[in-house]
Amino acid sequence: MATQTVDEQRIKERVKSSVERATEIFAEKNIRFTDLRRTVFEEIASTTASVGAYEVLDRLAKKGTRLAPISVYRALDALLEAGVVHRLESKNAYFACGRLHQPRTGRRPMFLSCETCGSVFETDGEDIFKSIDAAARNAHFEPRVKFVEVSGTCEACAAKRKD
Ligand SMILES: [Zn+2]
Ligand SMILES: [Zn+2]
Repeated sequence: MATQTVDEQRIKERVKSSVERATEIFAEKNIRFTDLRRTVFEEIASTTASVGAYEVLDRLAKKGTRLAPISVYRALDALLEAGVVHRLESKNAYFACGRLHQPRTGRRPMFLSCETCGSVFETDGEDIFKSIDAAARNAHFEPRVKFVEVSGTCEACAAKRKD
């Protein structure tokens, strides 16, 4: 058996548990978790950074799975619908939900995107969404907000900078 680095092992374990949880979520929502959807999800879940659709295509092609862009986009749509991946609008890229293993609260997340390492995190943004709704309504505007994204520096990158 090939020796694996600790990092590779950790990533494998994370992907495995994410796939297990995604399988449950698809079942709960009565959406089919097809092989293609699973393959695309595994690719996205293998990194904490956001990945563009074409990057997913390239990575799969390198592993011998050649897909049409439309197939990847359809798979991504299903993953978004199930809520197991999110779309980072500012980068037009996708990342695995960071709260897969937490109980569903129905509270909307805001996305935190690290400008240094590209990792995307999420945190409870429900109060911000409510403030946006209220401010927009005060301006007689009907809001249809779906995302709040904040760019900055993650904890790990901030710690490295201090060294
Ligand atoms: Zn999420
Ligand atoms: Zn970072």
